[in-house]
Amino acid sequence: MLFGDSPLPGLAGIARLAAQSEVLESKRTVRYFEIDCRSVLNRTRPGLPFTWTINPYRGCEFACRYCYARYTHEFMELHESHEFEDRIYAKSNLPPILRRELKRVRATDSIAIGTATDPYQPAERRFLRTRSLLEVFAGQSGLSLSITTKSDLIRRDIPLLRSIASRNRLSVNVTITTLDASLARALEPRAPRPDLRLQTVRALTDAGIPTGVFPNPVMPLITDQEARLDALAKAAREHGASYFGGGLLFLMPSSRRVFLPFVEQHFPHLLRRYQERYESDAYLKGPYRDMLRERLRAIRQRHGLASGGTHVSEEQRFPLFESSQAGLPGAGILRHVP
Ligand code: SF4
Repeated sequence: MLFGDSPLPGLAGIARLAAQSEVLESKRTVRYFEIDCRSVLNRTRPGLPFTWTINPYRGCEFACRYCYARYTHEFMELHESHEFEDRIYAKSNLPPILRRELKRVRATDSIAIGTATDPYQPAERRFLRTRSLLEVFAGQSGLSLSITTKSDLIRRDIPLLRSIASRNRLSVNVTITTLDASLARALEPRAPRPDLRLQTVRALTDAGIPTGVFPNPVMPLITDQEARLDALAKAAREHGASYFGGGLLFLMPSSRRVFLPFVEQHFPHLLRRYQERYESDAYLKGPYRDMLRERLRAIRQRHGLASGGTHVSEEQRFPLFESSQAGLPGAGILRHVP
């Protein structure tokens, strides 16, 4: 071939080979944006375990197959399921807005951080939005706060968390759906391994911060087996957890579009049952819920674990059983998502 005819002019040897190589796999690139924030504290409807929620990011790179919060990207006209995972929005200007809004918080209120996205997802390593809020909370007293995360990155903030806990009620919910690392990798592709999350529980409890494990969402016939849940609760206890949650999987249409193909790929024998049970309703109804609630109660009792954080009674936590996953409140209990 004459040089002038070459489709790769100027390239030779390994450079030419590289340029001619076929794509085997193309990994998605995560893009980070900054979005104006109008309000940090979002009020939930009355009767729920917390009064306010805070989410410093929109979207979540951890990409859990069951994530209920995918619908929140639809508010931004982002309807492709992968966009929730690879278009991450960091909210701007959070501290002054939070300081202003804290004047509305009463002594009996509670604030939950990380209800629709993980506050310690990879973006936090660089953009520090969660940390900027914690710095505000460190200057407060008498508040009741909880943080829900799957990430060991929270260990970075332990000194700050200790400072907050010295003047406020603070608990941390670490979500671990399974101890099986390969199942976790399939379910929660970009989240830290279960053993790293357990080590995080240990680090937090060693620092004196009340910490619990949430096995949420419990997925029927995938993670709900007595032996699996018992082993998880035992490991949680051994790593210092003081409570163990439990919320059943619910599938809104945006989550169903991701979760059912996951079931088809990894648990094809369960697909029809999932389709039938979740086709007409996002929530499972019937005796299964009672059975699972009883199973969790017995497991907690066996391992000396409470059902919720220090400032959440069992009665208050009960609604979470029906509507939470990953430690997250169901869509129905959020008045709006920030
Ligand atoms: S379930 Fe939680 S950690 Fe997983 S993608 Fe959704 S918000 Fe992120």
